[in-house]
Amino acid sequence: MASTIALATKHGKLAQIAPAFACLPDWGLTLAEIDTDEFGTFSGEIPRTLSPRDAAIAKARAGAEFLGTDYGLASEGSIGSHPQMPWVTSDHELLALVCVSKDFVIVESYLSAEIRAHKEVVNEQTDLELLVTRLDLPTHGANILFSQDNETVIHKGIHDPEIFVAELRKLLSSPVENIRVESDFRAMSSPSRQKNISACAEKLVKRISTTCLSCNEIGWGKVGYEFGLPCSGCGQLVASVPHSEKFGCVACDYSEVISRGQDSIDPARCDFCNP
Ligand SMILES: [Zn+2]
Ligand SMILES: [Zn+2]
Repeated sequence: MASTIALATKHGKLAQIAPAFACLPDWGLTLAEIDTDEFGTFSGEIPRTLSPRDAAIAKARAGAEFLGTDYGLASEGSIGSHPQMPWVTSDHELLALVCVSKDFVIVESYLSAEIRAHKEVVNEQTDLELLVTRLDLPTHGANILFSQDNETVIHKGIHDPEIFVAELRKLLSSPVENIRVESDFRAMSSPSRQKNISACAEKLVKRISTTCLSCNEIGWGKVGYEFGLPCSGCGQLVASVPHSEKFGCVACDYSEVISRGQDSIDPARCDFCNP
């Protein structure tokens, strides 16, 4: 039975997602070209009110509704500090697949420090050639922002270094204020992000290909962790360390808990021995 998935996107993510789906011959992706910007934008002119997960699910549902398909798929990326290494900028990609008739959601995520991300305030002293290098123009795109009449103006998706520098020189000699630049993270402007979306799509396809042993529904996979391991020094239970991975089904209650092969933790990680 072939199923059509509506891929909700405004910023051309089909090229990053379709290759992974090529190995699922029963599934076809169709573009649902809805205005996904209404769920929030990277550059902030439309604030993101939902969590990234809820935003991806809402976009996927909107795409399915738009095309009248049973399945909807959407992506959401968040660029910010890495959860384990806060000094590193990372790209956290999410893909949500929604099934309307059976009312389930499969969300897969991919975290990567491989993302070109730069932002900087621009003034007369700024080395514009260096800025071009830091933003990796023309491979990556950049946005120019400034304040004019108490409003923020954004020029998005500039790739051409000459246009970029000329635009900044013009702004610097004009009365506008608060000139700044930032990486454009929309998928079509960010090849480093494109790679991460592709990697996330690979994970999602693997998930779709894995079925539940109990009910045979698609989407079996890791849903979380079970926590709590004793310290090998003092014996106290440290609640923040996971001992097992939990796998579950999107449609029924069946789950499996698989040990990570550790029965105690080093005192260096213990809240009591090493507070
Ligand atoms: Zn199941
Ligand atoms: Zn201890």
